[in-house]
Amino acid sequence: MGLSDIITRIASAEAGAGRAPGSVKLIAVSKVQPNDRVEAVLEQGHRCYGENKVQEAAGKWPMFRERFDGIDLHLIGPLQTNKARQAMGLFDAIHSVDRAKLAKTLARLAQEEGACPDLFIQINTGEEPQKAGALPMDADAFIAECRALDLPVKGLMCIPPVEEEPSLHFALLAKIAERNGLQGLSMGMSSDFERAIALGATHVRVGSAIFGERVAV
Ligand SMILES: *Cc1c(COP(=O)(O)O)cnc(C)c1O
Repeated sequence: MGLSDIITRIASAEAGAGRAPGSVKLIAVSKVQPNDRVEAVLEQGHRCYGENKVQEAAGKWPMFRERFDGIDLHLIGPLQTNKARQAMGLFDAIHSVDRAKLAKTLARLAQEEGACPDLFIQINTGEEPQKAGALPMDADAFIAECRALDLPVKGLMCIPPVEEEPSLHFALLAKIAERNGLQGLSMGMSSDFERAIALGATHVRVGSAIFGERVAV
């Protein structure tokens, strides 16, 4: 596996689903990966990356941005409100908007800064107690609340339960997005991104299949 293999597989999944070439964006999830692996993928020309921790991203991406143009950085992990300002300065998109308190903080900071990253609302499609995200039954109201705050909501994100068939969760996410008129669908990881593309993913978040297994920390 590796970057070029994943790009090829995305292209055939797009074609297989009758979707336009290039309609799916590949977020290369570089969390915990050694810098030399990330650098190798940057050298291959890939520019879109995902991190799940603000602190970790702050430790490496300003440096990579000095060396490589056009980096598009996405936050895919939970965001504490006290890190929201820092996150807004670092990331081009935030996929983990999951509660009213965070939405209000982002709205206030967006007013102050006059800019806001693209936002995805995380939905806890499996209704798992330990997992972040608005519950499916609260999704429409939360999306409306974010829009009322003038936040740039581009789509929805989910992380299906590990033990379940992800397609059911991808289909649920797509249904919630459609009835709310949202285009963006951030869904699919190394083990299931082709199924996500078949169900309409616009952003897939692929880590280990590009960089290799994450070294445990
Ligand atoms: C780590 C992570 C991924 C990537 O996982 P892989 O299985 O390595 O592709 C995708 N999404 C989120 C939210 C993650 O935290």
